[in-house]
Amino acid sequence: MPPASLNALQPLEPFQASSDRPTKKARTEKDDDEAVPEPDFTKADHIPLTTHTDAFGVDPIPISWGHPNPEVRGPVICTVRHSAQRNAIGAHQGSYCIYTGLAVAAKKLDPDYVPNLKLTTPVFNIGPYPSWSDPKKIASIDPFGHVVTQHYSKWLDKGWDIRPTIAVTKAHIDLPECREALATGRLKADGKILLPSGQSICSKAAIEPVWYLPEIARRFRTTEANLRHSIFRMTNGMYPELITRPDIKVFLPPIGGLTIYIWGDPDTIPDEDIELTCRVHDECNGSDVFGSDICTCRPYLTHAIEECIKTAQRGGCGIVIYYRKEGRSLGEVTKYLVYNTRKRQEGGDSAENYFNCTEQVAGVQDTRFQALMPDPLHFLGVTKIHNFISMSDMKYNAIVSTGIKIENRIEIPPDMVPTDAQVEITAKVFHGYNAGKAYQGIDAQSLKDVKGRDYKYNGPEATSTTTNDKPIPEAEKTVES
Ligand SMILES: [Zn+2]
Repeated sequence: MPPASLNALQPLEPFQASSDRPTKKARTEKDDDEAVPEPDFTKADHIPLTTHTDAFGVDPIPISWGHPNPEVRGPVICTVRHSAQRNAIGAHQGSYCIYTGLAVAAKKLDPDYVPNLKLTTPVFNIGPYPSWSDPKKIASIDPFGHVVTQHYSKWLDKGWDIRPTIAVTKAHIDLPECREALATGRLKADGKILLPSGQSICSKAAIEPVWYLPEIARRFRTTEANLRHSIFRMTNGMYPELITRPDIKVFLPPIGGLTIYIWGDPDTIPDEDIELTCRVHDECNGSDVFGSDICTCRPYLTHAIEECIKTAQRGGCGIVIYYRKEGRSLGEVTKYLVYNTRKRQEGGDSAENYFNCTEQVAGVQDTRFQALMPDPLHFLGVTKIHNFISMSDMKYNAIVSTGIKIENRIEIPPDMVPTDAQVEITAKVFHGYNAGKAYQGIDAQSLKDVKGRDYKYNGPEATSTTTNDKPIPEAEKTVES
């Protein structure tokens, strides 16, 4: 039987279900060892339905989101082992939680298994920073998500299953573009940041989303009730607690997370006098991984990595934040449907209709909504970006509106824009992306003139019939090297 509140979707009503549930007192500084509550373990063969009154979260561990002391803030508990004490809606691992369900079904995973976190702690330090206790700065990730074993060791010792939502490690990365940059002299090996082989040495962190719903609602200029209703509705009721448990404020959404790559010493990031280069990149598998030339994504990403390496070599730091927001967060299926629409429309793929095609297919141009995007910057203690490797006004505005200063905005060098991506860049600049020095003069006429490749989907594929296959003139170099 569906929860009663399902029927209350139209019109929007204030919450009633469980809203008068007494909220447990927040933890205090005085809480000592003995105040770590006893865990209540859910039996593996017991299925607590979240729609049944008092079957779920009857005794949630209090969370004081934004409290600077993680012990007082309280751990985010969203594992299946403590359904009565769980204080977050959803499940760990984002969309991958479904695979753990498959693993249990296939009898490959014991549902009661508690991870051994002994050797998993961060390999370099991040924070704490003042921004960690400001919900206006961090509300979509748990700033203590990487230091679970450090701050909640007493809980873990008592048998609590508490999971990190952030993992911090290091890597050597090897990109053909960096090797080419070495060969042509754009980059120089220093044996420290960049090796003669072209490998660069970086630090990185993987982050799963942890949403504090009241602040997420504030950023989207809506009420928490409307936010909960809307997500509940558009997930076909996947999370009834969004409606039935307004007292539970934390949600682990089943969406992709993000990865932070850092070149240079992460400790310099909060120092406004030390150069910081940054790109916030939204996933584009077709270009980022497979080199599709319909957009500027991979060239922009590798350009940013080169600039990050150069900044680190000058004694600063370079950050790339890689968001899993495929196809403007509409997904790759929608994206390819849009590609077909773009190529098949009357007159062919044009800059003029670039944004219209997405809206025609998806009903909306973009669902990346940059309002949550700056959170990982605040997690890293960023207060000033010297070189922002992006032309997006949405990203720029989102970042500066949270108090981070941006000194220079760096556009992608025109010779890096792939042939078929002229449509995208022309449309974006015309519609308000920062043109920089390189893309001045894009006007209504260029919007009409720039056409993309014609694939002749209903006939033999054309080779190169575009009007824009000739490279556009190289503009001034935009970044000091
Ligand atoms: Zn792309």
